[in-house]
Amino acid sequence: MRFRSTRGAAGGTGGEVSFREAIFAGLAPDGGLFHPVDWPDLSDLFLRFDPGVEFSDLAGRTLHRLLAPEISGEQAERIARRAFPFSPVLRPLDPQVLLLELFHGPTCAFKDFGASFLACAMDEFLRQEARRAVILVATSGDTGSAVARAFHGKQAIDVVILYPSGRVSPLQELQLTTLGGNVCALEVQGSFDDCQKLVKEAFLDPQLRAKLSLTSANSINLGRLVPQSFYYIHAWARARETLRVSRSSADGTAPVGSPGVPVTFCVPSGNFGNLTAGVYAWKWGLPVESFLAATNRNDIVPRYLESGRFDPRASLHTLSNAMDVGNPSNFERLSRIFEGEVSRMRAVIHGESVSDPDTLQAIREEHEQSGVLLDPHTAVGVRATRRFLERYGRAAQPVIVLATAHPAKFGEIVREATGIDPEVPASLREVLGRSKQAVRMENRFADLSAFLLQRFAGG
Ligand SMILES: *Cc1c(COP(=O)(O)O)cnc(C)c1O
Repeated sequence: MRFRSTRGAAGGTGGEVSFREAIFAGLAPDGGLFHPVDWPDLSDLFLRFDPGVEFSDLAGRTLHRLLAPEISGEQAERIARRAFPFSPVLRPLDPQVLLLELFHGPTCAFKDFGASFLACAMDEFLRQEARRAVILVATSGDTGSAVARAFHGKQAIDVVILYPSGRVSPLQELQLTTLGGNVCALEVQGSFDDCQKLVKEAFLDPQLRAKLSLTSANSINLGRLVPQSFYYIHAWARARETLRVSRSSADGTAPVGSPGVPVTFCVPSGNFGNLTAGVYAWKWGLPVESFLAATNRNDIVPRYLESGRFDPRASLHTLSNAMDVGNPSNFERLSRIFEGEVSRMRAVIHGESVSDPDTLQAIREEHEQSGVLLDPHTAVGVRATRRFLERYGRAAQPVIVLATAHPAKFGEIVREATGIDPEVPASLREVLGRSKQAVRMENRFADLSAFLLQRFAGG
């Protein structure tokens, strides 16, 4: 499979790159996003996955089919096995809704899948070429911790994380600053925007570019997007088994889920990377009936689906803050898939926007009905699904809602809605006793440049 910029002209082979080139470059040279040139049909492979298939096994086999001959079967399998010591869990909420829990990784949110895969793929390629690279990231908290955890301990990579002093939560700061080893945290006396500006300047600086192999790991990287498609495929393969079990216990008269029957996925969305990954899986032949794009009040895409106008605006602050995006960058990829035609996108994607009061109500009601605690992002998805089912009647198959974060990551909001404190998983708790190690730095590019050169270029 080859990749090309979303802004490049269609047809011709100009500007095509390999997967390896795409992940180290991050952004295409023309400012667009890397995107597949064509769509291989993998449906025969998907049908061969049995319901008990292990996630890392499915990931390795799918990856090899996608990228051969660029990578060998052995490499694909090694990357997948290293990247995914954790798996998604499919759990019935009731006969009509299944939760696809994506929060069993080290930082308890779905971004662990993309970050861990990217780290393992980069490490594999760098070691093969006997090179090293420095990953530079600015973070406002959450993404940085997923990236830091994912790259921690990788032989061929050093990680430098810039975060705004005093503006990340105490738990997030510990997650960023207690890893040590190849992960270095810079505590910048400035805002998140200042951190981002410093990183951008570093990527443009000729001296740094000449002396260091600098690379990024942000969410638009193709190496974070592609692996997210694997859990849609896995959920579809697993659903056959899960549906059989849940139907026979909850509703013995409903038809048993069978292979090849299309499913509906609901995706709580902000920057639309997760949804785009699902649409990729569908383009490769996964039987999908439709996607439900669930947003909070930042409803740019649901409004596009209604009006046909893409109208980005400043983001609004909501309870599901990882989805507070006013100009979703992956829209460029989605739009390319549907050739810029809103009618084509409408045939596959429905939009729903959910307010903060409805989010809190969903957390409370779902807990009352099933005893399950939802984080606010997942609650947006479940609420949107309830509305969708009301509008279109019972779906032939349950809707699979992506549960994007563990409720304990948003414990205060969950407590406000239900009066209950979710239990904190061990992987979040383990940083609490450790001590912070960060290098304090003024918001000055000269200081960052000197630090990077001194540390990684020997002067
Ligand atoms: C990042 C994030 C989202 C949004 O995902 P996108 O790929 O940006 O649409 C949803 N929920 C949680 C918990 C997140 O961290």
